[in-house]
Amino acid sequence: MYDVRSMKADEFINDEEILSTLAYADEHKHDRELIEQILEKAEPKKTGRGVECAGLSHREASVLLACDIPELNERIYDLARRIKLAFYGDRIVMFAPLYLSNYCVNKCVYCPYHQQNKEIPRKKLTQDEIRDEVIALQDMGHKRLAIEAGEDPVNNPIEYILESIRTIYSIKHKNGAIRRVNVNIAATTVENYRKLHEAGIGTYILVQETYHRAGYEKLHPAGPKHNYAYHTEAMDRAMEGGIDDVGLGVLFGLDMYRYEFAGLLMHAEHLEAVHGVGPHTISVPRLKRASDIDPDVFDNGIDDEIFAKIIACIRIAVPYTGMIISTRESEECRERVLQYGISQISGGSRTSVGGYAGYTPDERPHDTEQFDVSDQRSLDEVVCWLMEKGYIPSFCTACYREGRTGDRFMALCKVGQIQNCCHPNALMTLQEYLEDYASPKTKEIGEALIAREIQNVPDEKRRQRAIDYLEQMKVGGKRDFRF
Ligand code: SAM
Repeated sequence: MYDVRSMKADEFINDEEILSTLAYADEHKHDRELIEQILEKAEPKKTGRGVECAGLSHREASVLLACDIPELNERIYDLARRIKLAFYGDRIVMFAPLYLSNYCVNKCVYCPYHQQNKEIPRKKLTQDEIRDEVIALQDMGHKRLAIEAGEDPVNNPIEYILESIRTIYSIKHKNGAIRRVNVNIAATTVENYRKLHEAGIGTYILVQETYHRAGYEKLHPAGPKHNYAYHTEAMDRAMEGGIDDVGLGVLFGLDMYRYEFAGLLMHAEHLEAVHGVGPHTISVPRLKRASDIDPDVFDNGIDDEIFAKIIACIRIAVPYTGMIISTRESEECRERVLQYGISQISGGSRTSVGGYAGYTPDERPHDTEQFDVSDQRSLDEVVCWLMEKGYIPSFCTACYREGRTGDRFMALCKVGQIQNCCHPNALMTLQEYLEDYASPKTKEIGEALIAREIQNVPDEKRRQRAIDYLEQMKVGGKRDFRF
């Protein structure tokens, strides 16, 4: 039944294959020889085209996840760190979610937007309200958003989403601009995906929630999201509709994490086998406390230790796929997992509809919040913290704007041109942030970092051009340079 190329959910995410993978992983979790072979296969290797990584199959990666030999677990973390460094360097891309509407016709038992929740006021932003939200986000320094909405064909039809995207891209306030809009809306038709593609979205993100079909059906007892196959096959329709960059994810805490982990990698293998390109990103949300939801009723919660190991094993298995972590996680947890493979984080986030405009960084509107936010720091605090920890916060959106999506982005990773391209782009967009939005302390730390890091652009011509662009920003007030 298992067929990586099948277009049927039950065949490319095959329950039998997952169960046999988990049994195989259990059988080999103390198998030092096999684990060492797997680690060797995943090592970054120098080739004529730069540094390349082979990645791992869902079976191999599941063995690493199950491995309980402490010394080999240390090697897993070390390998994840080195792969992260080889392809992402110290750069961390910044984004913020923008909640458009919490109207929803589904009954997802873990989500406060569920139709029967009478505790939260329902709210949908008008285009004028979206404009206010976007101005507030631009004034924080954001350039990249992920829009979020409940599923409701009457209140949030695709036309509303498309109009909202047009509004977001059209707003140019002071030196601000939203240059990439990622979209997290419910599974939809090829035709609607085509419309989203034509509207110029970045990544289409859809969290699978759980790959376990029986569990999925119980967790989504009614509404369009009940249909497991329609949800699981959504990324194939998105790609058929022309969207190159898709983002996978599971909501950890709903079902057994080892099952989800294998399912997630099988989904990535399926996209690669059928469309020639794997997922652009993987999100790793964990279930949180929220209105009318008690996470204690879900007994599959994972602790920080397992969470870190999942992230390290994903990094090793799919080295070219970005990994996203949100403000659901605390500062301590985020700090720990950044080193193992996270490449994008949100900052200064509000998970309520209309949560940005008219509020100071300390005021938090709670009434329509989707879930409790653990990391409540402002974007400036997060940017400053990242730099103090040795990372380079990046507001770069260049790949998507230069048409380097899907396999063209992967090609850039594989030929090792990242250091000549992503590195200066990160520094130039950070310079924009420092000029226009940073606090004096953040600015001071950032300028020293840029002066140091710009010297690490290997190609001399590129380096000189980047230095020239940085000068044009500081002295000439110019913006939006990119390679
Ligand atoms: N309505 C769209 C859908 O159903 O896919 C997407 C928007 S939904 C607001 C975004 C995501 O929030 C969901 O896919 C789910 O993974 C996550 N989520 C829902 N309830 C949550 C909770 N209690 N804690 C953490 N994340 C949650």
